[in-house]
Amino acid sequence: MKIALISPPASGKGTQAKWISRKFDIPRISTGAMLRKHVADRTEVGMLAQEDMNQGKLVSDDIVIKMMEARLRKEDCKNGFLLDGYPRTMRQARALESTEVPDVVLYLEVGDEEIVRRMSGRRVCPNCEAVYHIINDPPESEDVCDKCGSKLIIREDDKEETVRKRLEVFKEETSPLVSFYTEKGILRRVEASGSIEETRNNAERALEQLGNL
Ligand code: AMP
Repeated sequence: MKIALISPPASGKGTQAKWISRKFDIPRISTGAMLRKHVADRTEVGMLAQEDMNQGKLVSDDIVIKMMEARLRKEDCKNGFLLDGYPRTMRQARALESTEVPDVVLYLEVGDEEIVRRMSGRRVCPNCEAVYHIINDPPESEDVCDKCGSKLIIREDDKEETVRKRLEVFKEETSPLVSFYTEKGILRRVEASGSIEETRNNAERALEQLGNL
């Protein structure tokens, strides 16, 4: 099964991606996580990507498309994959068409104010990438990662001003993909403004309706 997730920031994409990848036994490929690793490792890609990421902008298509083409050629993608955050522009979607057409694209829908509210409580672990929310999903001790004990941080691109910028970018660059995949008949809308469990149930229902894809 080849699945792509399209969603505005803070739609719970990462959280949903985890169970979907387990359920279908397919690798979760997060472009955001791959780019953050490049930044942490100070690679050439990381140097080029860092500023755009910190400002809530998209990293250039050339970089991301090249990175993803190499990733999708790997052995573990033979039986499918879950794309978490790719494609995000029409150019990326067209590049994907020429290599790997998704079977289904899930669009997680959340209202703008809910997104900003969620982002302001988000904390992430800089070491293992675990994600928490100070109200909805707090760690056992304040600001400490349950999994590895590192001190939690607010990601630079989760700050309110940056979130608003990311929303703007989403509307301009990514939302055209919704019509693109709707026309192809492979887009499934998933209501994602409720709790993690409600969103999961909605996504499960959308995936069940696919039958034996
Ligand atoms: P995410 O973890 O998916 O929210 O991604 C974090 C940041 O990485 C985004 O705000 C972008 O700056 C960058 N990024 C992730 N995926 C892409 C993509 N497909 N195209 C361009 N930039 C991306």
